[in-house]
Amino acid sequence: ADVRERFVARNPESLKQHEAACAVMPGGNTRSVLFYAPFPLVIAEGRGCRVRDADGHDYVDFLGEYTAGLFGHSHPVIRAAIDKALDAGINLAGHNLLEAKLARVVCDRFPSVELVRFTNSGTEANLMAVATAVVATGRSKVLVFKGGYHGGLLSFGGGASPLNAPYDLVIGRYNDVAETERLLAIHGPELAAILVEPMLGSGGCIAGDRSFLGALRAGATRHGALLIFDEVMTSRLSPGGLQQALDILPDLTTLGKYVGGGMSFGAFGGREDLMALYDPRRPNALQHAGTFNNNVLTMAAGHAGMTEIFTPSAVLALNQRGDDLRTQLNRLCRKHGAALEFTGIGSLITAHFSAVPVLTPADAAAGDPRLKELFFFDMLDRGIYLARRAMMALSLEIGDAECTGLTEAVEDFLLSRRPLL
Ligand code: PLP
Repeated sequence: ADVRERFVARNPESLKQHEAACAVMPGGNTRSVLFYAPFPLVIAEGRGCRVRDADGHDYVDFLGEYTAGLFGHSHPVIRAAIDKALDAGINLAGHNLLEAKLARVVCDRFPSVELVRFTNSGTEANLMAVATAVVATGRSKVLVFKGGYHGGLLSFGGGASPLNAPYDLVIGRYNDVAETERLLAIHGPELAAILVEPMLGSGGCIAGDRSFLGALRAGATRHGALLIFDEVMTSRLSPGGLQQALDILPDLTTLGKYVGGGMSFGAFGGREDLMALYDPRRPNALQHAGTFNNNVLTMAAGHAGMTEIFTPSAVLALNQRGDDLRTQLNRLCRKHGAALEFTGIGSLITAHFSAVPVLTPADAAAGDPRLKELFFFDMLDRGIYLARRAMMALSLEIGDAECTGLTEAVEDFLLSRRPLL
């Protein structure tokens, strides 16, 4: 209660903005994930790895726009690319000089992607990938996993969302090979697709076991279903995405977030024979229009970001930084005997207040939500901005000083809240 009260007292302008927003948006909200009680901070501006809220408090941005903010705020290279695109004119109603260049980069980088199409969000990319699988296989069932998040219309966080697209969904248990084999034996011949994140992102940065993901690959092949890797969050975890690090190639891959340089972005791609269904030179080609699929701002920002900034060596360095930070944070938790664990891979990290190692969504769900809330508000108090669900996605602008600042803030939290932990 004390930390919430301080939050309210410190943030009158955010509260005022929230109240005004409530008059025109439900709960003042247009992105569900951003809401938390008593009201969410309004962020007024950001530079590099820092953001400033509407009341003028500065934070180190460890949230990194839920992974889309990989390049930090207004990176000069991205800005220059966007300026150049603006000068050439937006909304050109034609193929432009940039889209095939970004597509080339994506196909070169991600090993399963032979051909790619762009969308405007990760949500749309996943809907398109699943629809492609339904058409390609002539089947209707889709195997997904509890704890998975593929956008608001394919969301399995606490169970299936009532907003989910009306596919015939089979919901399995993430990282449970025996249960997966059982479901495959029952539903395999009717499956159009298996849709999975190779690491659960919003589900708590829980890495997929190689044996689990390998069983999905083998099961899909055995039953003639398509394996779709949702790499919207995980594509940053090696130069060629998590699929490359795991050496498990899906039939289709979906991308989003940072690949568009911080602009609205999504993409789905994969096997040439599947993507060729959209080739308009073919009779009865599938139609996938989309006014903004090739919008020049995204194409320019994404191409600059992927070629000039997030090069393969930058990918490796960022993940090393994340792994070092996670190791350091977990060492602190052990040192102070706290039932707190930082999970994830590379630059993606989530804090879980759990007495058992967090290997599945069920382990994550067993953690105490009140401690997570306390952690969130305590971190804000210490100038650290992260997701309310205690997720962090390092941007390239986060350096040694910021990582040291975070570990100090976490140690301070562990010491000051010791009786509760
Ligand atoms: N897939 C995953 C794994 C995601 O984390 C997200 C967004 O958080 C999406 C899909 C949806 O992407 P978007 O928010 O761009 O629609």
